[in-house]
Amino acid sequence: MRTSIATVSLSGSLTEKLTAASRAGFDGVEIFENDLLASPRSPEEIRARCADLGLAIELYQPMRDIEAVPRAEFARNLRRARKKFELMRRLGADTVLVCSSVSPLARDDDALASEQLSELADLAQDFGIRVAYEALAWGRHVSTYDHAWHIVETAGHPALGTCLDSFHILSRGSDPKGIEDIPGEKIFFLQLADAPQLAMDVLQWSRHHRCFPGQGGFDIAGLLRHVLRTGYDGPLSLEVFNDVFRQAEAGPTAVDARRSLLVLQEAVGTVELPAPVVPTGVAFAELVTPDAEPVAAVLGALGFARTGGHRGKPVDLWQHGEARILVNTAGAVRRDGTRLAAIGLESPDPAAAARRAEALLAPVLPRRRAPEDVPLDAVAAPDGTELFFCATGRADLPDWRADFEDTADAPAAPGVARVDHLALTQPWHHFDEAALFHRSVLGLDAQESVDVADPYGLLRSRAVTNPGGSVRIALGVGAAPTDDTVHAQHLALATDDVVAAARRFLAAGGRLLPVPANYYDDLAARFELTDEELDTYRGLGILYDRDAGGAFRHCYTETVGRVFFELVQRDPGYRGYGATNAPVRLAAQHAQRPVR
Ligand code: MG
Ligand code: MG
Repeated sequence: MRTSIATVSLSGSLTEKLTAASRAGFDGVEIFENDLLASPRSPEEIRARCADLGLAIELYQPMRDIEAVPRAEFARNLRRARKKFELMRRLGADTVLVCSSVSPLARDDDALASEQLSELADLAQDFGIRVAYEALAWGRHVSTYDHAWHIVETAGHPALGTCLDSFHILSRGSDPKGIEDIPGEKIFFLQLADAPQLAMDVLQWSRHHRCFPGQGGFDIAGLLRHVLRTGYDGPLSLEVFNDVFRQAEAGPTAVDARRSLLVLQEAVGTVELPAPVVPTGVAFAELVTPDAEPVAAVLGALGFARTGGHRGKPVDLWQHGEARILVNTAGAVRRDGTRLAAIGLESPDPAAAARRAEALLAPVLPRRRAPEDVPLDAVAAPDGTELFFCATGRADLPDWRADFEDTADAPAAPGVARVDHLALTQPWHHFDEAALFHRSVLGLDAQESVDVADPYGLLRSRAVTNPGGSVRIALGVGAAPTDDTVHAQHLALATDDVVAAARRFLAAGGRLLPVPANYYDDLAARFELTDEELDTYRGLGILYDRDAGGAFRHCYTETVGRVFFELVQRDPGYRGYGATNAPVRLAAQHAQRPVR
């Protein structure tokens, strides 16, 4: 099926939007009127640009407040329409979107609406144009798709059909099953947008919170299946009004948009992609740092030992239990500080995992970063984190550890068992994209998104996990474009006994994040902990949480660059990440920052 995107969904000038849509692989666009009005280029130039970029102009939109009005008003509307049809002819657009009227002049009169839309279609036909009539969810008298279809059906005009918009249909709670009653050839256009489930005014909801399919709470695939059963063969077109996309760069947004359509098409069976290969564990986390010393000090205090050195590069392998951390000083930029730059994911089939990632438009990284390196399949996540697909310890596939020469050091006796989770900070405008990426590309499950209060803002966090919980990635973002060095990345290490691990860390010279006494007073009120337990936690700075599945005890190291470590004791049934404690942690971290 053809794919298309409304220019209103992307930021920038009209030509920037067209370039981004073309580069992301869309077949066509909807030209949003205001984008054309604001462009210094003539309709003929835009038409030529689209042709050069291989983009069809699938729709011109919107035409508003046309139908069911008094005769004199309708005459004015026809005059306005004629001007727009002339423009559309210059542009080479053959379908116009007409939204159901919101005008106070409009009458609640379906017969009049049919009659006037018929007249409009007569005029359109003279220009070789088709009229696609869409019910706005907040239309004055016509606000549901079946009502709009009833008016179109009554008109019985060959140049008049309906436009279905998943947002307008699903935000009203309409049953999309009725779409199957519409003949496919009378569905002139299909616009797709998802949205989070919000209880708010539908107009504001639509204008500010639409998102790409798979990023909200609507069943877009279910709706699309009904549409496809009618025999509809027009484009799948994304029409997304969203405050974040208006400010984000058009190129990455267009790629995110195309990926969402690929995932949707896979779900309904119109596109076949390589099957997801779900990662089974964390092979390593890689820290890039301009100065290995402070990182080495923290890792050493945590009980990690430097077990290997890279044969060709300044990269050390640190290990404790099954937790492996690479400390890389090559190519680090001092200004960036220490950051979590790459994750090795254990994959049952690394090559197949990379094929799926590539099919879903993830940038593929060179298999060898240096000629002597073990070839590894790797892709970049939207935040730039490099994801390596690994097969640690498998005889049939290259083992990344072959790049490392063993050192004499051996990891200290018990403490850390493995990586519990990784927390990655997303650029603020890539949050929904990141969740869709990790779900669709890696086959991970996304948990509900949670909002966490930060003393200087709001932090949104959403975890993606594999079914067994051996891969857990918490995606976090500030709610606004702020100094995101505050919201550092972290690496959480699983231990069977966080109290013992914290004590060993302190005894080895490590420093834990101090937690205010007020937190423990509250803990005493919320949970029935013994005084001794509470004193222990208070003394060390251990935080506590519990859900239906069990308890979660955790503490944090000081931050090194943009990274800190968390020691975690997780009961097997506990699903979360201690989100209720995050505001206290964030406040404590702010308090530790040097005054600016
Ligand atoms: Mg629409
Ligand atoms: Mg954490």
